[in-house]
Amino acid sequence: MNWRRVLGMNDLAQMAAVDDSIAMQQIEMQRVFALQQETALQWRHSTAKERIERIERLKAAVLENREDIYAALMADLRKPEAEADLAEIMVVVQDANAAIKHLKSWMKDVKVPATTALAGTFSHIRYEPKGVCLIIAPWNFPVNLLLGPLISALAAGNTAILKPSELTPAVSQVMEDLIRKVFREDEVAIFQGAVETSTALLEMKFDHCFFTGSPQVGKIVMAACAKNLTSVTLELGGKSPTILDSSANIKDAAGSIAMGKCSNAGQICIAPDYMLIESSVQQAFIDEFDAVVKKRLGATAEAQQASPDYTRIINENHTLRIKGLIDDAVERGAKIAVGGHVDVADRFVQPTLLIDVPEGARILEEEIFGPVMPLIKWDNPQQALNHINAGEKPLALYVYSKDEAQIKRMLSGTSSGDAAINTCLAQFLNHNLPFGGANNSGIGKAHGPHGFKAFSHERGVIRDRFAVTQLFAAPYTPFTAKLLKFAVRWLS
Ligand code: NAD
Repeated sequence: MNWRRVLGMNDLAQMAAVDDSIAMQQIEMQRVFALQQETALQWRHSTAKERIERIERLKAAVLENREDIYAALMADLRKPEAEADLAEIMVVVQDANAAIKHLKSWMKDVKVPATTALAGTFSHIRYEPKGVCLIIAPWNFPVNLLLGPLISALAAGNTAILKPSELTPAVSQVMEDLIRKVFREDEVAIFQGAVETSTALLEMKFDHCFFTGSPQVGKIVMAACAKNLTSVTLELGGKSPTILDSSANIKDAAGSIAMGKCSNAGQICIAPDYMLIESSVQQAFIDEFDAVVKKRLGATAEAQQASPDYTRIINENHTLRIKGLIDDAVERGAKIAVGGHVDVADRFVQPTLLIDVPEGARILEEEIFGPVMPLIKWDNPQQALNHINAGEKPLALYVYSKDEAQIKRMLSGTSSGDAAINTCLAQFLNHNLPFGGANNSGIGKAHGPHGFKAFSHERGVIRDRFAVTQLFAAPYTPFTAKLLKFAVRWLS
């Protein structure tokens, strides 16, 4: 086929220009990577004070550039300022404060006891920087999910290259300006771009890669890292179930679940994805959910669309994707119990509840990542457990119940990255908890001391002061043999 004729000369010229700019970016990335490798060697000796100074510089820049961050989040996501404060700025500042306050103790060597056979030796664990780290971020919290991991990387003494999402161009530009102002490129650098940029970065021999995004892309990232045996932290997503039983306070549960599903218009990795609801309380829940959404965002679809407190879907494609999930469910027989209005041009999806969703509907298979919730009824708690365990291990599990035995049953009968009882999303905000998934929803943990560990190499060190380890060396004299027999007997 003659591609020149099919594509036209202009298209070919454009493609050549794109190829050229990616090739140039690749050369630039390799140059910066080499510089960072040198800095990383020096930073192996870095003290808590030096690392804290870097984190303080970053924190100050975030606070100073708050207005630009609000404006960029408004441009990309129509994110209300209050939500920007709550879920972007506050989280980053809190992460920075925790690292500043606790870094000295996180960095301390941890003594571990000797085993019986090694009596007379001394062992400890050292937390060492991994080296040059790659951080790839998604679009839904484009500040917090880029800078949060960076704080952990800096706390652990690493240099870093950041790749923000191409779907939030305004925020990514503010992030680039901020990083360039605060750090030298051999300390922290940032490269904007889409798949090609990520792919080129992933070819480099990073010491650690921290990826936040979808499980599909997580697999690609892990496969690319495997080629260099680069260690990974994968913060992924999936379908987080929300169980509600008849013992729960239905009004409180509806208020909490509506917050989880409507904040950021449901575009949260740990948003309640779908509900497993005891049949007897389904209608009561629908009524309370409807009432609370009306109270918070407006009584009609038009009022909700006009609310300044409701974020938009990231782009038209994703709005169409969510609309497609609703349409598919309805075509298969599901009913819309609340909401249902979508305005693609305005990237608006009304908070929506779907009932009687039949098996096979796409909304029960795919991560929804939007303000739409299918309700699945159960009469026996085992049905809820079976449903969850038939799928992938979710990132979050939510249980709304006052029945202690039920809560215990749901926790011990399932596995998930994290879990929350009678609340949702809050597990993200307590940085003392390890945040992350399990298998399909993620590998490795983030936040506070757990993020520090994710970016640190735990190096075991043993010291032999009295040459005791040579007791077992050849030749195996009757004395050594006796000693070893004694050791085996002692251990058995
Ligand atoms: P995504 O996986 O499409 O993209 C994430 C990043 O990977 C972006 O920077 C993107 O440019 C890059 N990327 C995309 N395709 C790539 C490829 N083939 N090779 C290399 N890099 C590639 O995710 P998204 O749409 O930005 O975000 C939504 C997903 O992220 C959801 O699944 C959500 O649950 C998940 N998420 C998880 C967390 C968490 O903390 N666990 C937080 C937010 C979002």
